[in-house]
Amino acid sequence: MSATTERIAIVGGSISGLTAALMLRNAGIEVDVYERSPQPLSGFGTGIVVQPELVRYLLEQGIELDSLSVPSSSMEYVDALTGTNFGSVPAEWRFTSYDSVYGALYKLFGPDRYHTSKCLVGLDQDSDSVRMRFSDGTEADADWLIAADGGASVVRKRLLGIEPKYAGYVTWRGLLQPGEVSDEVWDYFNGKFTYGLLEDGHLIAYPIPGREEAESARLNFQWYWNVAEGNDIDELMTDIRGIRLPTSVHNNSLNPRSLRQFHSRGEGLFAPFRALVLNAPSPFVTVVADATVDHMVHGRIVLIGDAAVTPRPHAAAGGAKACDDARTIAEVFAKSDDLPEALQIWESRQLRQGNGYLQKVQKMAAALQHGGSFEPGNPAFAFGLPEVDTNTVLDNF
Ligand SMILES: Cc1cc2nc3c(=O)[nH]c(=O)nc-3n(C[C@H](O)[C@H](O)[C@H](O)COP(=O)(O)OP(=O)(O)OC[C@H]3O[C@@H](n4cnc5c(N)ncnc54)[C@H](O)[C@@H]3O)c2cc1C
Repeated sequence: MSATTERIAIVGGSISGLTAALMLRNAGIEVDVYERSPQPLSGFGTGIVVQPELVRYLLEQGIELDSLSVPSSSMEYVDALTGTNFGSVPAEWRFTSYDSVYGALYKLFGPDRYHTSKCLVGLDQDSDSVRMRFSDGTEADADWLIAADGGASVVRKRLLGIEPKYAGYVTWRGLLQPGEVSDEVWDYFNGKFTYGLLEDGHLIAYPIPGREEAESARLNFQWYWNVAEGNDIDELMTDIRGIRLPTSVHNNSLNPRSLRQFHSRGEGLFAPFRALVLNAPSPFVTVVADATVDHMVHGRIVLIGDAAVTPRPHAAAGGAKACDDARTIAEVFAKSDDLPEALQIWESRQLRQGNGYLQKVQKMAAALQHGGSFEPGNPAFAFGLPEVDTNTVLDNF
């Protein structure tokens, strides 16, 4: 470890921030996490497809995959209006939820150095340290700052002026408990990942585990809608108080007209999809946007996860990418004798991975949202990160 990496601050205490924090702490480095949320996060329980990189740290700590996820055996491709089946491909994915992954990481890290209600608003750096300013008026400093503050990263914006670019569509999301749809609908979606394809968009649905280990599985769905930039997206993302929200509008603040439109369009879907849309108790809407950077290392500040490359969700590996950035940057800080050289090698690998993934999901979007051809089982559209060298960063020395 370099003599000047004794104290590392991490801004953003979600899955990449916590993975990095845990690995750095295990290596004996002093680490503090600054999270803007006033309490540990809930993530609204949304689903995540398990990729090896996402859960690698948790499995190494002896946490069983069965306690975090539910299994599946196939991917189904159906017409979301008529139910016509376009194909079924065997696929042994496991599905988890944001709550399960975040909850397990947070439990391992604990609250002592996890500082909530710390929203970063400004920062400066010199050759020895980084100073952070938070919205509550407090300040903190550290030898290095790892920015893990997500797709709308304040650190990325402050350093580079980059904000995510709207992709031209949104995703409506919802979760259902057993009993909120009929057994027939439950069985239709259980144990598989289902694509519901439309001319101008698509749905996905799959089961995820309950919030607590003992709770029953839930059904998670998303419905991607094309919404024109400008007035249309502004109207949809303006909440009941009249505030134009940048990322998500949650159920209790959705403009009632938007919710009515969601339900009335849902009426036209094939019955099982219709049941998800009409019965989801708390649907919410999120804009799809992406961003990239030329560099992840900026002096003493390192961008990781969505704060570096923000991808669309279609290949189900954004969280995996974020955790891989976290794991490998922790290895760099913990093990490298020549930190500047290690950071350069790290940045080059992670940018190749991040940008390769971004290109893949942009191609998937063209097929899924804009009338392209989305054939069942097309390997170009398989879930997961693109192949880059699989060695850890330090094996490259
Ligand atoms: C609809 C959807 C579906 C997805 N499905 C999958 C999937 O199936 N598989 C998968 O691997 N990935 C999936 N992803 C991607 C995955 O959720 C993200 O890539 C992942 O959460 C990124 O992790 P992160 O830690 O980099 O950032 P985030 O999880 O976005 O966390 C950023 C953190 O920073 C905090 N923060 C923000 N600003 C500040 C500030 N100024 N000061 C302090 N704290 C701040 C936030 O509160 C948050 O805790 C999906 C994403 C979406 C939107």
